[in-house]
Amino acid sequence: MNSLKYPFLDLGAVNAPYIEALNEAAVGSIASGRYIGGESVEQLNNNLASLCHAPHAIGVSNGLDALRLILEGYKILGMLHEGDEIIVAANTYIASILAIIHAGLKPVLTDPDPSTLNLSADGIERSLTNRTKAVMTVDLYGRIDWNENIRSIIADRNLLVVEDAAQAIGAQSSSDGLFDSRFAGAVGHAGALSFYPTKNVGALGDAGAVITHSKDLADAVRALANYGSDRRYHNLYCGFNCRIDPIQAAFLNIKLKDLEQISERRRQKAEVYSNAISNPLISKPDHPTDRLESVWHQYVVRLPETDRMRFIDHLSANGIGSDIHYPTPPHMQPALSDRFAGCSFPEAQRLAAQCVSLPMADNLTISDIRQISTIINSFK
Ligand SMILES: *Cc1c(COP(=O)(O)O)cnc(C)c1O
Repeated sequence: MNSLKYPFLDLGAVNAPYIEALNEAAVGSIASGRYIGGESVEQLNNNLASLCHAPHAIGVSNGLDALRLILEGYKILGMLHEGDEIIVAANTYIASILAIIHAGLKPVLTDPDPSTLNLSADGIERSLTNRTKAVMTVDLYGRIDWNENIRSIIADRNLLVVEDAAQAIGAQSSSDGLFDSRFAGAVGHAGALSFYPTKNVGALGDAGAVITHSKDLADAVRALANYGSDRRYHNLYCGFNCRIDPIQAAFLNIKLKDLEQISERRRQKAEVYSNAISNPLISKPDHPTDRLESVWHQYVVRLPETDRMRFIDHLSANGIGSDIHYPTPPHMQPALSDRFAGCSFPEAQRLAAQCVSLPMADNLTISDIRQISTIINSFK
């Protein structure tokens, strides 16, 4: 049992409203006798294509694999080559960077814009070289990483855009994507979604998806995720096994029906926090002018580094859970510190030292969020 009155994220409570439908889907899935592929996966792919306003969606094993399959797919299509550089924000979750490395490409980190915490057009421009082939935008904390300035650099330089939309399903940009969609996952050439259980729409295990406007990429990804096989016992590529479990697809089809309400409840909570928190020690996150641009996967406040631990203790002493996204920037992780030796990304490092994520779980009410804000305001 969770002893906090307001745990950071109680997934049992988040899924409680769906329990009957989930049970029914599990029973149906077990009885179907089909445990790879099948109808629930087809349905999920259709649902995702429609929710993201993109022609192709492919359910896969998880978000990291989705990113990697996109990059490997572009290599097969001859649009990316071993050693090509991909620009990505230095404050992302490490998975974005791991996908680039696993695909044999070179991640080029750049500090984020301090207000949006996403890539800035300036940041991209500073990191461009003649080996830059792609930009990986990351919709960090649920805020879509896309705007007119980014769009115009991409177009001028003819770069590929791979969107890490793991945190942002349902977010909608106020400026045009490269094709005919403004939805997270679909503003660039291809995007990755994650349904890791803690995401806004979480599976009951691992799951992810690739979204794309390109039929060729979709075909390559579908084959790569299934041993490189385009039809039975015929292997075009040295592929992987990155298929989605149909039982997870069945669960997701249920939860995705609520996507709009899930996003809207998070926007309301973020607005309540931002209106109610008035503690001068605490900096609140920037809100996009167009509220549809964020689905608030996290609500992240910042404090002076020296106050952060006391603040977290104050919260927990008052029954409030919190988390840190993320305490160590990827370039300072042991796995990557050699590769990025001598690099420093001051904004990413400052953010890692200052950030605290507040509870946003779907089962918390607006009144809970007000209570939490009051306790936050009493921190001295
Ligand atoms: C969760 C996440 C991923 C990875 O997704 P998994 O499904 O856990 O593999 C990638 N990038 C970002 C930004 C994420 O938040």
